[in-house]
Amino acid sequence: MSKDYQRKKVYDWEKKVWSKHNEKGWDYENQMSPKAADKYATELWNKYKNKLCYNFDPRDVYCSQVKTKNAKGRGRPCMKSGFWYSGRRKYTKNGAQSYYKKMHLPDGSRTKVVIIHEISHALAPRRVHHGSEFVSIYVYLMAKELNFNLKYMIKTLNEDNLNFNFNFSKKLGRRIKSLN
Ligand SMILES: [Zn+2]
Repeated sequence: MSKDYQRKKVYDWEKKVWSKHNEKGWDYENQMSPKAADKYATELWNKYKNKLCYNFDPRDVYCSQVKTKNAKGRGRPCMKSGFWYSGRRKYTKNGAQSYYKKMHLPDGSRTKVVIIHEISHALAPRRVHHGSEFVSIYVYLMAKELNFNLKYMIKTLNEDNLNFNFNFSKKLGRRIKSLN
């Protein structure tokens, strides 16, 4: 299996799910302002970090930013994370590391569904890319935050042979059950 083995399948599947729920995904006419996108992404991150699975070490100083890149149609939305360095100082006064999450959203992609896709990368365990844990979190957020039809999403995931498993995390498994 390659590093990001089901990426293409996820892209195809989400297009179908978005249009079923009357969402365009990319939307140049009706996208949020950069400020609103920043706020929405930051709220989601704070609401769900460590609530769906362990994905964030509370000892790290938390910082979330949405950086909007006006790439003139170039580039995909993506999530970046890492540590801030200021000169040689990696640690703050209390010894915590200063950690960041940044979301790059090219013009046209500042919509709820795209932001939820990207924040799902941040909330999934590291290095899973578009793998099973990512898909599971992504589905939960679309059902919970946007009222997308959970049964429809599960049915189409199975039809498209996508890997997912809500019970990779007990916390997520419980939350999915509570949606039914
Ligand atoms: Zn992605």
